[in-house]
This record gives sequence, C-alpha cells and structure tokens, in this order.
Amino acid sequence: MDVILLGPPGAGKGTQAKFMVDRWNIPQVSTGDILRAAVREGTGLGVEARGFMDRGELVPDRVVIGIIAERLKEDDATGGFILDGFPRTLPQAEALESILTDLDRNIDHVVSIEVDEEELVDRLTGRRMCKGCGESFHVLFNPPQNEGVCDRCGGGLYQRDDDKEGTIRQRLNVYRDQTSPLIAFYREKGSLREIDGSGNIQDISARIEQVLTGTE
Ligand code: ADP
Ligand code: ADP
Ligand code: ZN
Repeated sequence: MDVILLGPPGAGKGTQAKFMVDRWNIPQVSTGDILRAAVREGTGLGVEARGFMDRGELVPDRVVIGIIAERLKEDDATGGFILDGFPRTLPQAEALESILTDLDRNIDHVVSIEVDEEELVDRLTGRRMCKGCGESFHVLFNPPQNEGVCDRCGGGLYQRDDDKEGTIRQRLNVYRDQTSPLIAFYREKGSLREIDGSGNIQDISARIEQVLTGTE
C-alpha cells in the first residue's frame, strides 16, 4: 500500500502517520524529519536546507526529490510507504510519478486531511516534538504523560523553531500557494480521499482506517 498524506502544516499528518505505521506495518517517510535530522547532524544537505526551513519556505524541489528517490528504493519500503510532507509542489508530484513508474508501482491513496486555518495555528503554536522519534505532542490537545518526555520512546520534547507565529503564517501561505493545487491534481487522477481533520485524534484515525480499508 503506497499512500500520500496531504494537508497543511498542523493538519495531523505526522500524528496519523504514526497510527498508520502501527496499523499497517509500513514505514513513514517524512521529508521534514529527514531534513531536520540533516540539520542536526550538520551534513551538506542540512546546511543547504536550514535557511529555507527557518524562513518557512520550501527547500528546493531538486533536493527533496533526490531524497525521496533514494529513500523509496530501500528494503523497508518494498511493501508500501506513507509519504508525510511530500510531495508539496506540482513538480514534486510529477517527479514522484516517474520515480514510482521506474519502481513499477503507483500511489494507491492520497489522504487529504482538512482543518481550518485558526485551528492549525492553535495546533502548531502548542506543538512539542520528540527529538528521538519525531512523534508530535501538544501542550493542551495531546499532552504527554510526563511533561517534556515522549510517551513512545522516552526522548526529550522540544518546540520547533519554525513553530513560532510569524513563521507559521508564512508556512500556511506557502501551503495555499504551492501545495494546495495538488488536491485538484490527485482528484483528477482519482486517488484523492478527503478526510475531515477536526475532532479528536482517534476519530480521525478511524476515518482514515475506513477510507483505506474501503469500509466507509
Ligand atoms: P503535521 O504533521 O500535519 O504538521 P502534526 O501531526 O505534527 O501535524 O500535528 C500538529 C499538532 O496538532 C501537534 O501538536 C499534534 O499533537 C496536534 N494534533 C494532531 N491531531 C490533532 C487533533 N485531531 N486535535 C487536536 N490536536 C491535534
Ligand atoms: P509541517 O508538517 O509542520 O508542515 P514538515 O516537518 O513537513 O512540517 O516540514 C518542515 C519544513 O521542511 C518545511 O517548512 C520545509 O521548509 C521543509 N520541507 C519538508 N518537506 C518538504 C518538501 N516536500 N518540499 C520542500 N520543503 C520541504
Ligand atoms: Zn519519541
């Protein structure tokens, strides 16, 4: 099962990806997580990506397409994958088509998670992320059992530099301008599955499960 999770920053892509990893035993492939790891390690990729990420802009297509082309060839992705945060532009979506054609596979479902803009800002300003496994928590909506500690792996939680109000607004604009056209792109291909992303986390997981197992 090859799935894309589409949605604005804060929609719950990362949160639902963790549910899907456990449910279907296929890997989450998050370009944001891969880029943040590169920034932390100070690799060439990290140095190149950092400025764009801090400003809330997209990292150039060439860079992220290269990451995905390599990642999807790895052994753990042969039975399927969950793309979280990729593609984010039409050129990325087109490049993905050709990467998958070369691997003789195709996208089964594009799950588009929809949430109002004000709710997105509330979710992002209170987000705390795990340094170890990338799990998202929220100070009010999804607090960890022990403050500052990840329920999943025991790692430390931190607030991302780009989860500050000014950068959040910029990221939401970038989503509207550059990423939201992908909704029409995938609708035309017949793979779009739209999900109401409001309500509690378990309810949204249940909606995704229904859509992916065809039990709606
Ligand atoms: P994305 O990966 O789409 O940017 P996340 O999964 O990191 O989004 O979620 C953004 C923030 O919103 C996190 O703090 C997360 O705990 C919280 N969150 C996720 N789903 C919900 C929900 N259904 N209701 C309230 N808060 C949520
Ligand atoms: P969120 O889910 O909160 O939007 P991500 O972790 O997916 O955040 O992405 C964080 C940042 O990493 C983005 O603002 C962007 O700078 C960069 N990034 C992640 N994925 C991509 C992508 N597919 N194309 C370009 N830039 C990306
Ligand atoms: Zn963790």
